[in-house]
Amino acid sequence: MLWTCIACAFQAVASAGAVTAASALAPGPAAVTARRLIRANSEPGEWMSVGRTHDEQRFSPLAQIDTGDVSKLGLAWYADFDTNRSQEGTPLEIDGVLYLSTAWSKVRAYDAQTGRLLWAYDPKVPGEFAGRGCCDVVNRGIAAWRGKIYVAAYDGRLVALDAKTGKPVWSVLTVDHDKPYTITGAPRVAKGRVLIGNAGGEFGIRGYLSAYDAETGKLDWRFYTVPGDPARGFEQPILAKAAQTWHGDWWKAGGGAGVWDAIVYDPRLNLVYFGTGNGTPWNRAFRGSGGGDNLFVASIIAVNADTGAYVWHYQVAPGEEWDYDATSPLVVADLRIDGRSRRVVMQASKDGFFYVLDARTGSLISAKNFVPVTWTLGIDPETGRPIPNPAARYDITGKPAVVEPGGQGAHAWHPMSFDPLTGLVYFSAIDTKFTMMGAKTFTFQPMGANTGLGFPAGGRGRPTGARPPQSRSRLVAWDPVTERAVWRSRPLGRIGAGTLSTAGGLVFQGTTDGRFVAYRATDGKPLWSMDAETGVVAGPMSFAIGGVQYIAEEVGYGLVRYGMSNQSRLLVFKLGATASLPPAPPPPPPPVLNPPPSTASAATIEEGHEQFETHCAMCHDPPAANREIFPDLRYSPALGSAAAFDAIVLGGALQPNGMASFKGRLTEPQAQSVRAYMIAQANQAKAAALHAPQGGPAPR
Ligand code: CA
Repeated sequence: MLWTCIACAFQAVASAGAVTAASALAPGPAAVTARRLIRANSEPGEWMSVGRTHDEQRFSPLAQIDTGDVSKLGLAWYADFDTNRSQEGTPLEIDGVLYLSTAWSKVRAYDAQTGRLLWAYDPKVPGEFAGRGCCDVVNRGIAAWRGKIYVAAYDGRLVALDAKTGKPVWSVLTVDHDKPYTITGAPRVAKGRVLIGNAGGEFGIRGYLSAYDAETGKLDWRFYTVPGDPARGFEQPILAKAAQTWHGDWWKAGGGAGVWDAIVYDPRLNLVYFGTGNGTPWNRAFRGSGGGDNLFVASIIAVNADTGAYVWHYQVAPGEEWDYDATSPLVVADLRIDGRSRRVVMQASKDGFFYVLDARTGSLISAKNFVPVTWTLGIDPETGRPIPNPAARYDITGKPAVVEPGGQGAHAWHPMSFDPLTGLVYFSAIDTKFTMMGAKTFTFQPMGANTGLGFPAGGRGRPTGARPPQSRSRLVAWDPVTERAVWRSRPLGRIGAGTLSTAGGLVFQGTTDGRFVAYRATDGKPLWSMDAETGVVAGPMSFAIGGVQYIAEEVGYGLVRYGMSNQSRLLVFKLGATASLPPAPPPPPPPVLNPPPSTASAATIEEGHEQFETHCAMCHDPPAANREIFPDLRYSPALGSAAAFDAIVLGGALQPNGMASFKGRLTEPQAQSVRAYMIAQANQAKAAALHAPQGGPAPR
């Protein structure tokens, strides 16, 4: 036996429900059945769902690559993608075929041993949809079931593909195209249904989780995460109760609470757990909160897997107003706590707390912060509710509030792994602050960004009023029982990355500055790394064929950062392999501030500021504000030409790259006011750079 069959120690739950033996299907691509998925640990070489097993522990029982030999890990093969937007997907490997999704919701299938491309599918998402999301046209993964591969496209379609050919079998539109819905998350399969949510809480949507028949694409059930217009009646009884936590006419902005990442099926309890995002707008003063909790924003929810009926919820931030989506990955495990075995749901949440919930009831077992936190004074263990920090309530004080965590949160979508051998959970923890201030007035913009935040005089972009602090990401090994970090890596850049744990005693994780690293799981010692030539943020995976263990990772992040271009690829590793990547192209030249003189009136520049905040800031806020994916428009050559600016912003000239046309949202004079605002900002930055100490960077 070439690898240790740790799986034998994890004999799967021979669970209830109608199961189909694998042998009942002809062998072939993606012959994934309920039995195979539920017993996934008895097939340690396979990775059949996005988190490998239903409990999404992202733990591979393979141990051929271990702490002793990982130094011999080498590149077995690689495959270039045809999109250089960010890659956040985790591949699947089923019966020798590797399936994955890339940015723009494209799907590819490869011979997992040789890297030969078997087929590729492009849903041809219209470029204009890029303008409906906050955070790039990414896709975090696919699902497999009985010969089909399922992908949710960025524009809201759910598509079933023939796993042998990549040809669509069925396609359904899961959202209303008149609303700014997008989908970036991976579908999951539970009991013959495909589960999928959606995103758009920054803009104005009503969140929900849908379950479609995997064979036909027929909608089986849908759980809305916020109540709709009471005059139309409530789809589920629980929404009548939820409506008591809202006031005013919240439904006009949709309410938010998108289900944009975590969805986990628990066959043992027949529950589906999922997380919901922030409310719309962020500022609860403009959300008709009336002091209510606004259920179910920023919540972890459990519903019955057959019917979608509500079972329990835990709201991490009642009345949430700091963009603390509770959508981060959920991991299910059996932990020994206070002398007894507890089935738990775990989340390292954007709000900085590591939550451990009872999977049966949703009751809080523990909540401990893993980064500094200022939005609350702590979680009351009796009620499970956060203790308010009055200083963080910018909606009440009318003053700027420095909130920790800020920006993209302490831990966002980046997959986390649980190693049952060490008992530790591995995830990116980001220290970051954010200054937030409520706007004085708010008008809902149907297809624009709707935060309800204001901006101090002279401040640019997010209301920091000063240079935003650097965020720092570390890999953390967290003990969910003792509620403490067993180890933390050195700072690894501003943004996190997904993790994989293996029975070889290893944790794999990438970095945004272009490395892919293996750490010793017990103490965090880096044992191996390779230069990926591009930023790495996705969740890695592992599989085995013919007694050989492989590690696979999708790489590619942002546009141009850290002096690297994005070279989006799949990298596949095994011991002793010696393939190499082609040399990286020379780093792009550093951007130069070269704006024309600022001649517009103060009124035009202020108009441009308003339009920028509503339509542009969600992506093009200064890169120092954390995302680092999108261009800083102060450096754009298009500032020099009104026609070039219009061609991009209104004409959609860069639509294939992901820059949507804003025709219909911005008039021509409004687009030019944005240009005037950016010209003024660029001139300010240029003047500041001239007066900066010699060699110092331009302030951002
Ligand atoms: Ca959000």
